[in-house]
Order: sequence, then C-alpha cells, then structure tokens
Amino acid sequence: MSSPIAQPQPIHASAKKTSQSSEELFTDLSVISPHISPTQSVPSTPLGVPVVETEHIARQRELLPEAKLPEVQCVARARIPTTQGQEIFLHLYSNNVDNKEHLAIVFGEKIRSKTLFRRREGETQSDRMTRGAYVGRLRPGRTLADKDQATGEVAQFDDDGFLVQPKLSPEERATLVRIHSECYTGETAWSARCDCGEQFDEAGRLMGKAGRGCIVYLRQEGRGIGLGEKLKAYNLQDLGADTVQANLLLRHPADARSFSLATAILLDLGLDEIKLLTNNPDKIVAVEGKDQLVKVVERVPMVPLAWKNGGKDGIKSKEVDGYLRTKIERMGHLLQKPINI
Ligand SMILES: [Zn+2]
Repeated sequence: MSSPIAQPQPIHASAKKTSQSSEELFTDLSVISPHISPTQSVPSTPLGVPVVETEHIARQRELLPEAKLPEVQCVARARIPTTQGQEIFLHLYSNNVDNKEHLAIVFGEKIRSKTLFRRREGETQSDRMTRGAYVGRLRPGRTLADKDQATGEVAQFDDDGFLVQPKLSPEERATLVRIHSECYTGETAWSARCDCGEQFDEAGRLMGKAGRGCIVYLRQEGRGIGLGEKLKAYNLQDLGADTVQANLLLRHPADARSFSLATAILLDLGLDEIKLLTNNPDKIVAVEGKDQLVKVVERVPMVPLAWKNGGKDGIKSKEVDGYLRTKIERMGHLLQKPINI
C-alpha cells in the first residue's frame, strides 16, 4: 500500500507551477463515499415546504444499509441558562456503538427523554432529581421529582415505568431539529474554513424563537474522521484540494458520518415528526433511515448569513467560499450559491 500522502507530493514538487495545475490534479480523483454518495444534480426543494419523496431521495433510501438502530440511554439532563437569554436542557447520552458522549440540546421543558424518565428499581425522588428526571423546575427545598409543587404538574407513568408524554397538537408535534456534528475548529477556534459555528448559532436562535426544538450534537468531528485527520485535510486543502478531495486523499470517505445515533436520540425524545434544518438532502434520508421511524415533514434551509442582508454579517473568507461551493457542487447541497463564489 502506498502512503496516504503519496499523491499530494507531486504538488509540492511542482509548487512553482500555477495553482491551476494542482487543481487539475485533484479534480481527476473520483468521488466515492461508501456512506453517502455525493450527487451531481439534485432537484431543489422550494424553501420551507414539506419534503416530497423525490427520485433522488427514493434512490438514496434504497442504498441505505439494513441496520438496527443503536441503543441510546440518556444518562443525565440539566437546565442551562444561556448567554442568549434562552434556557436549554442539555441531555447527555450513552450508547452501545461507541464510547462517545453524544448530546441533545433541547429547547422546551416538555420534550422529555423516555430512557431518562423511566422509573428505576430502588431509586429515590432525590436520585431522579439529581439525574434530571423531574417535571417543571428545580428550586431549593424541592423534594419530589415527579411533582412540581409550584405548578401542580404531576408526572404520570405507564405500567412499564415510562413517563406518559403530554398530548401535542400537530403543529407542536413537528419539531424544529438540527443534526450537528462537532466541529472544534469552527465552534471553538474561530475557524473561517467552514460555517459550522454560524449554523449552530443560527439553529439555536431559530429554536429559541420557536420555544421548542432540538439540536442533536454528535461527536463526529471532521465529518467523522477525527480532529487529527481533519487538520491533515486542511493542509491538503491549502495545497489545492477541495474538502471532498482532501478526505479522499487521506483514504477517508467524503463523508464518514453516521446519523443513526441521531435517529435513536430523536426517538428517545419522542421527536418522530421533525422539521429538519439542513441543506443536505442526504441527511434527510440518513436521519429517517430505511424504516422512517423519524419522519422529516419539512426541510428548513440554512442560508449562510453572509449571503443574506447584503453580506453585512456572517463569515467572510475565501476558504469558507470554497467550502460552501464544494458542498453545493460536489455534495448536492440544496443552496443557490451567489454569483461570486
Ligand atoms: Zn466546521
């Protein structure tokens, strides 16, 4: 086997040549992802309308492997007041497929985890409050998890110990959801190579406004290849590769992420009808899975802030322009790119 960095070397050697020749070299690579195949042309879904089963979606669903959903367990939740004024309930999950702590950032106290709230043998009301399985709000002196004395709300359980969830109207039921994959560089290190931080903020803003929503935060850094490999991919990008090519040069699929954990977490939270914030048509299929236990009833586009309001806000860098261009041209994202990128 040749070393993964064998291919980029000629670019180094021909550094004196124009950048066009290195682009040509990268463009020759074929794009094959075993998880999600990038597409050349995808019919665009009009903004904010129900998702219809297009030929593309049907084809992608056929390609999905037959897979059992992972088992997830909500270990704890806590109320987090935020700097944006909204309160969120942070849910931490364990699962049976990896040892990472995946999260759900929940807007609205009425979205409650089945596994967290389920009654456990021998536990006390104090145990339940400590892990976050309480209704209403905690305050000093509260003694019962299953009853909020201030509001009078009492938790009801079925014979198997599961919380009986409140009945929702159809409008309430279709909940705004974002599936977000961890991006240390974009969220913490102020990176302008991608727009993950901006998308995360925007998702939170929209859910705060709606008063209900959920960001499933998956620990799959760098489209699933990990931070170390992502940093190598950035170097290949600086040598002329686009984001898809860089992953392929490192012998990774263009997108190594899996969304079945997100599906399992959404089901645990009772969110089986969702309005998905995404531009990625493959994500709709990936989250719904073969059996469509979660149904995406609407796709809500995420338009980069720099493309709205005359470019006053949002990320401006040539790297983010290239990143977005690759998403649209090579990964079939449903965005109309401005003429200048
Ligand atoms: Zn990112």
